[in-house]
Amino acid sequence: MSVSGLCEVCQQPDVDYTCDRCGQLVCDRHYDEEAGVCVECTAELGRSGGAGEGSDEDLPDGVDTYEL
Ligand SMILES: [Zn+2]
Ligand SMILES: [Zn+2]
Repeated sequence: MSVSGLCEVCQQPDVDYTCDRCGQLVCDRHYDEEAGVCVECTAELGRSGGAGEGSDEDLPDGVDTYEL
């Protein structure tokens, strides 16, 4: 099921995600599913969005690639 442990941001015991970047366990409130990283890494990276590793071209303002 889910990972056992506490969210390393808010310490709540209901964590479901592991940050792809720093590897810490976080709850859904502290995980950015788009970026695949925790909120701390999101902040470090500057902004959310961008599925790649910075090799993507800038997207038009206000337009995201959300379509499934
Ligand atoms: Zn949390
Ligand atoms: Zn992280």
